[in-house]
Amino acid sequence: MFKTVVFSLLFSISLFAGNPVEKIEWVDDNRLTITFKNWIKKVEKEFHFYHSETKQHKYFYDIADGIVLGSSKIDFKDSRFIDQIVVGQFDKDTLRVSFRNSEKLNITRRVYQKQISFIFGNSKDSKKPVQKKEIIKYTPPVKKSVKNRKNKVIIVDAGHGGKDGGAVCKKEKVIEKEVVLSIARYTAEYLENLGYTVHLTRSDDTFVKLGNRTKFANKKNGDLFISIHGNSLPRKKNFRKRNGIETYFLSQARTERAKRVAAKENFQDFDSMSKNGKNNYLNILSREKIIQSHRLALDIQGNVITHLRKYYYNIEDSGVREAPFWVLVGAVMPAVLIEVGYVTGDKDGIRLKNRLYKKRLARGIANGVEEYFRKN
Ligand SMILES: [Zn+2]
Repeated sequence: MFKTVVFSLLFSISLFAGNPVEKIEWVDDNRLTITFKNWIKKVEKEFHFYHSETKQHKYFYDIADGIVLGSSKIDFKDSRFIDQIVVGQFDKDTLRVSFRNSEKLNITRRVYQKQISFIFGNSKDSKKPVQKKEIIKYTPPVKKSVKNRKNKVIIVDAGHGGKDGGAVCKKEKVIEKEVVLSIARYTAEYLENLGYTVHLTRSDDTFVKLGNRTKFANKKNGDLFISIHGNSLPRKKNFRKRNGIETYFLSQARTERAKRVAAKENFQDFDSMSKNGKNNYLNILSREKIIQSHRLALDIQGNVITHLRKYYYNIEDSGVREAPFWVLVGAVMPAVLIEVGYVTGDKDGIRLKNRLYKKRLARGIANGVEEYFRKN
């Protein structure tokens, strides 16, 4: 208690007059609160990714209430078990709170009047709710217009199909090829309604070779390639406890986990090129395409998580990762692969059978595409 008072005191001294942030303080061992001068409405967007070069997990929370901190940045010194806590201006009217840490963090956040609290739990706690369910009123995202949507061609690729079922959960009777096809269709529908030109690599239960998917995308002059897949774990101890949504962009995998997921998705039709050939291909990938793909992955992951969290509690954000997915290699346009959840997961598996959940997920993907084009 004493410590808290000292720190908030220190802080109120260091902040200049007129600063929209009143104070930042730890009110508990694992709860950090940021108090603003005015009421804040909600967190507009939140996302997480693992930066493999700095080996850090990064968490971002954007508050778009026209709070202006200006060019000053608050690097909160009392970061405790977190490597770095920063509050800064993201754009003209968006304030961004970010956490950087070498270990993955489990964060629950809550907005109340002038305050936003972040509760840090360990992964054991994540199964039981740390906070009561937050009620957020849904407001549609502010529509800054994307120009010439009609001229933007999006290729939506539902993984697997036909003889290749992909991942399967026998208990819940969930088959990846079916789940991803309906999400792909909903995504195409949302994007078409927004005015984009959309092509599906498959619109029914047929088998399409990996190479033909990107050939199709290139032939259609796609501007973006979005591949939709579902994750799974083998039947081992606690395998049903693993849930989470993650988005990959193409590059050479650097982690074992990314390699494992890539190996599974590449299983079918991965024989047309020698190992050396594949490595060479990855080496000549243009840097620009990787950067654009990374941006697209961040926008899609961020929007899917933010959109789903408006309706569901305990949506697991597994972040943005890099991996050498073969299906992405042949595409000349920015390309990402979203793993929409674990069909074997005790939460994801059940949710992925639900039509409304799949629609909401698709809506998140479409919002991500919109954001990407708004910024690029
Ligand atoms: Zn798959």
